[in-house]
Order: sequence, then structure tokens, then C-alpha cells
Amino acid sequence: MRRDAHPGSTGPVLTPRVTLVGAGPGDPDLLTVKAIRALRQATVALVDDLVHAGVLRYLRRSARVVHVGKRGGCASTPQAFIHKLMVAEALRGERVVRIKGGDPFVFGRGGEECDALREAGVEVDVVGGLTAGIAGPASIGVPVTDRRFTRGVALVTGHSGEADGEPDWAALVQSRLTLVIYMGVSRWSHIAQALRAAGMPGDTPAAVVCQAHTAQQRQALCTLDELAQTMAAEKLRSPAIVVLGDVVQASPLWLQRSLSPAESPLCCKRHISA
Ligand code: SAH
Repeated sequence: MRRDAHPGSTGPVLTPRVTLVGAGPGDPDLLTVKAIRALRQATVALVDDLVHAGVLRYLRRSARVVHVGKRGGCASTPQAFIHKLMVAEALRGERVVRIKGGDPFVFGRGGEECDALREAGVEVDVVGGLTAGIAGPASIGVPVTDRRFTRGVALVTGHSGEADGEPDWAALVQSRLTLVIYMGVSRWSHIAQALRAAGMPGDTPAAVVCQAHTAQQRQALCTLDELAQTMAAEKLRSPAIVVLGDVVQASPLWLQRSLSPAESPLCCKRHISA
């Protein structure tokens, strides 16, 4: 199907198309050049709520911005509505960008959105972004696949209620991979118990990074057994990434923790102003 690029435009005839753009975890400086190019060309932007407001500065002033966020526990825009809106705008000839936090294909429903668009005859481009599960730990010096500690990393959701249920915690623990857990903070007590029951040692190094790569970033490094209490005491809330595994020891903050006379899980927590 071919139609005008934009109502009233004299530009070239274009196929209906949507670009899924990964905006990274926060700081707009982490956008790719390709993402910025896509944002500059857009006439309509559908924006998730974890996208940093500064990212929207790259849109044209005339671009229409639709916020379609869906934070856990808050009122959300149904996914089907988002699909319909993207299709409708693309078929009208708008240059649509769908701006998603992190990478569109990491727990971002990017795959579902691609399917819905293609089924409706709309072409899709995907511009990857830095995912919070790697960029968040990196911000405190945790290299999630450091070969001195691990053979790899597993990115896992801690969110329950999905059709596919709980992750296979026993298999994950047995794999000895670094575990990076998204969307797990509100269920942390349950997840920690499940990991312990699956055989993960209570002294496994752990880190939680909240609002990574934003001015509000906070983090704590401790052990698996200390993590639930640390999160509660410090009110560490979503959006946050939890990392479990020996790679956490590679962080300079881990060394500070070990040198601290108090040996407190909180002593290494510090605020970053970005
Ligand atoms: N597509 C995103 C993930 C979406 S799922 C990505 O690739 O990063 C949403 C979850 O991502 C949040 O619950 C949280 O676990 C994590 N997350 C997203 N942005 C974050 C940030 N700035 N700091 C810490 N965690 C973040």
C-alpha cells in the first residue's frame, strides 16, 4: 500500500511505516544517532512512561506526542489500543515513532508491536537502545559478563501474572549465570525466597540500581540475604534492576563496602547527580 508521506505534504510517496525507537534507560545522551534521526523525522510519537522527558526534545515542535505509559499498578493504556493507534496513524501517512524505554526488544513488548503492525500491512523499523539491565549495572561498575566471574548473563522478569508464569529459578541458579532481574522490586521478598529455595547461597553478591542514568539514580550493594531489608529500609523502588552474582564484586563500590568497618549493606549506597 502506498500513499502520501504526510497529509498536505508534497514529499515522496511512502509505504506506511512505524519506527520503534529504544530510548535507553534515562539520560538522553545515551540515545543512538539513529534514534535521534528517527525522532527528528517523526510527525507523531507514542511515548512510554519510562522515557526520559529530555528525549522528547529531539522531536519537531510540530510533532504530536501521545503518552501511552503503563507503569505496574497504575492506570495503563491497553496494548491493543496502542497497536490500533500506531496502525491508524501510519495508514494516515504520519511518520510514527514508538519511543520505548531501554531497548524495544527487552521486556518492551516490541515483538508484539512488530507483529501487530506487520499484520496490518505496516512496515516496521527497529532502532535498538541501551537496556537498563546492562547499562544500569554498568553505571556502578558492574560488568555483567566479566569472564573472571561468569560465563554469561540471564535477563529475567520478576513480574508475575504473565501467561508464562514464574521463571525457572532452579534452572537459573544452576546455570551460574549472572542474573539480571527486571520488574522485580515490588515482589522482592518472594523472589529472594524462591532463589534461596532454589539453592542460591545467601551471601551471593547483589546490587540494586534504581532510576539508573537519571539524576535520581540510587543504588545499594549487599548480599542476597540482605537485599530485601536494604530495599525496604532505603525505600528503593521501581524502576529498578537487581543484579545477582559474583560480577557485583567487580564494582569499585563493592570494595568500599568490604573496607567499611561497619560492613553495612547501606554503606556503599550513594547518590549520583547526572
Ligand atoms: N525495555 C526496557 C525494559 C522495560 S521493562 C529496557 O530495555 O531497559 C521495565 C523495567 O525495566 C523496570 O521495571 C525496571 O526493572 C527496568 N528499568 C527501566 N528503566 C530503568 C532505569 N532507568 N533504572 C533501573 N531500571 C530500569
